[in-house]
Formats: sequence, C-alpha cells, structure tokens
Amino acid sequence: MSNKRRVAILGATGAVGQRYIQLLQKHPWFEISVLAASDRSAGKKFKDAVTWLMETELPKEIGEMPITHIDVKSAEQTGDFDLVFTSLPSDLAGPTENEFGAHYPVFSKASVHRMDKDVPLIIPEINPDHIELVKVQQKKRNWKGFITTDPNCGTIGMTLTLKPLMQFGIQQVMVTTMQALSGAGYPGVSAIDIIDNVVPYISGEEEKIESEALKILGSFNGATVDYAKFQLSASCNRVNVKDGHLESIFVKLDKEPPLEKIIDVFTQFKGEPQKLNLPSAPAQPLIVRHEKNRPQPRYDRDAGQGQSVVVGRLRKDPIMTLKYTCLSHNTIRGAAGGGILSAELYVAKGLA
Ligand code: NAP
Repeated sequence: MSNKRRVAILGATGAVGQRYIQLLQKHPWFEISVLAASDRSAGKKFKDAVTWLMETELPKEIGEMPITHIDVKSAEQTGDFDLVFTSLPSDLAGPTENEFGAHYPVFSKASVHRMDKDVPLIIPEINPDHIELVKVQQKKRNWKGFITTDPNCGTIGMTLTLKPLMQFGIQQVMVTTMQALSGAGYPGVSAIDIIDNVVPYISGEEEKIESEALKILGSFNGATVDYAKFQLSASCNRVNVKDGHLESIFVKLDKEPPLEKIIDVFTQFKGEPQKLNLPSAPAQPLIVRHEKNRPQPRYDRDAGQGQSVVVGRLRKDPIMTLKYTCLSHNTIRGAAGGGILSAELYVAKGLA
C-alpha cells in the first residue's frame, strides 16, 4: 500500500483544478483520491464532465473517477483523504472551506479567506514562518484541520521579485499587469470581448494585489501578521494570451544599488523550498533574462516547470528607483503549482 497523502480536489473540473490533476500525476508525496465539482458535474465520470484544457492527455484512471458533490459527507463517502486542495469560486469557497477546514488541512486558491487575521497567506520562498499561524487558528476555532491560502495569481510574480528588494528599503511600488485568459477560469472571457482587444479591468484584482503583497511581506509576531508598510498601486488588464501574467513594475527604494547588484540579489534569491529540496521547488525562484525583449509569455512561462518567475528589462527609472518586467505562469506558480508547493512545505514542517 502506498503511504502517500491522499488528496481531495474541490473544483476539479475548472482551469485550476485540472492543473492540480496534471501536476499531481506521479507526485512523490500526494495522490488524488476524491474529485468534486458543481451539481452539474457530480454523479458523472470525470471524463464526461470536464472540458480538458491541459496540453497533456487526461490520465485514463482520472477520467474514470466519479465526481462528487462539494460537501464533507459526500467527499468522505467517495474516498478517504488526508488534505484538500480547493479551487472554487470565491462565494462558494467561504462556507465550503470552513466546513472542510474544521476537519482537514485545506489549501485554498480562492480569495475569500486570504485576509482573515488567523489565516496564513503563503508564498513558500517568502514567508514560510507564517504557516505557524494555523496553530493560532486551530486553537481559536477549536479545529482539527485548518485553512491556509495562496495569493492571487497577479500577486505572486510581483511579490517574489519584491522580497529580495526589501533589503534596500522599499518605499513605493507601482505595477501594471497584462493578465492571461486562463486567469479568468473556463470558459472565462468571451472570445468576442478579447479578440483584437485588451480589457483594462479585472474585477477585484487591483485591490487584491495591493493588500495581499503587504500581508505576505509582513512579519508573523506569534499571534498575527504585522503588514509591510510600503505603498503599492496596481492597474490590471486582461490580454489575449492563454497562460502567463506579464507585469510591468516600478519600485522606489531608500537606497540606489547599482543594477548589477539587483541582478545579483534576484539571481541568488532562494528560500525554504530550495533548502528543503521540496519536490515542486524550482532550482531558481527568480530567473533574470538579459535580452532587450524578454520575458514574453509564449517563451518564458514554462521556466522552472512553470514555478520560476522570469524577470527582465531591468533598468533605472527617472521617477522611481528602478523598473522591470516579470512573468509568472498563472495556473502553475500562480495557482496549482503554488498550492502544491505550499502543501509540501506544511508536510515537510510536520503541520499537514
Ligand atoms: P473555473 O475554471 O471557473 O472552475 C471553477 C470550478 O468550481 C469548477 O470545477 C466548477 O465545477 C466549480 N464550481 C462552480 N460553481 C460551483 C458550485 N455552485 N458548486 C460547486 N462547484 C462549483 O475557475 P478557476 O479559474 O479554476 O478558479 C477557481 C478559483 O481559483 C477561483 O476562486 C479563482 O479566483 C482562483 N484562482 C484562479 C487562478 C487562475 O489562473 N485561473 C489563479 C489563482 C486563483 P463545474 O465544472 O461542475 O461547474
């Protein structure tokens, strides 16, 4: 018998759920035992309910698995599981994650609990110590399980680049995002709205980026998180790209390090996942490209199996201190890949 941890995926038929399924194939620590989706899909075999969007084939045994309803009782009747990955619409994620979190470790991709005082918001390379907040949560809520969250897909790339810049004192950050279509889920934005077009609005996205980065870059004081103090302004656009969020970032620092020094701190940046050699950790979280016209979504989104953030166009800025472009794969590092890396961190630290 395998001693891998068994996982339930809630929202398994969606853009993120499918990415979880793809990335968990042959995972050394986790195996899929329960798939859940809406009442439209529950009761069907997975292959009959899903519009499979991944570049790799739908694994045969996954296609034959039944889809269950999204509640603890139905999930437990379908199979045993030790932890839960959720990729649900936010309104539904609120009560559902509370129901599961009372009994199981829940790794959430939804926004609804991210800013709760007793819920960690984790990027494993940046704030691995914040996972201890689940102990506060369990005590307060008298839960056996917990909820832990991952940031918005637009927050992750930018925040990974800001972490190594904090040593120079960040005063202000401005970011303009060019976000891929898969970030809106499936079927997402209608073709007629996005062909030959850019949509300069994504509901709730700017507020999420502006608040989440400050929590992630804050410090855990044993009871709660003290937020980082710099100013952050985001402007978000939906563009006609399948996967990969490109971001144009302007940063004002206390110090003015030479660009070679910035390249050096980006390139050297590593965190707990690399130290612990977690199965989904990229060797290099930040990869610097030196060509004038990179990163680009089509060429760079799969760097480090989609878990690395690619930075380029680094230069001095006449108003702020420096500016650069970064790219991250929104359904891998920005969603399922980030969720799996978080879960690996919790397992490695004995918390899940
Ligand atoms: P999606 O493609 O629309 O998938 C939504 C999933 O939730 C599907 O499995 C769907 O099942 C299920 N669902 C919808 N309504 C339901 C209901 N009433 N009851 C039970 N299940 C229901 O969305 P997604 O892009 O995967 O996003 C999922 C979550 O992750 C969202 O909160 C999103 O904000 C977040 N997120 C997404 C990305 C990204 O890049 N896409 C990145 C970070 C975070 P059916 O197929 O049966 O309808």
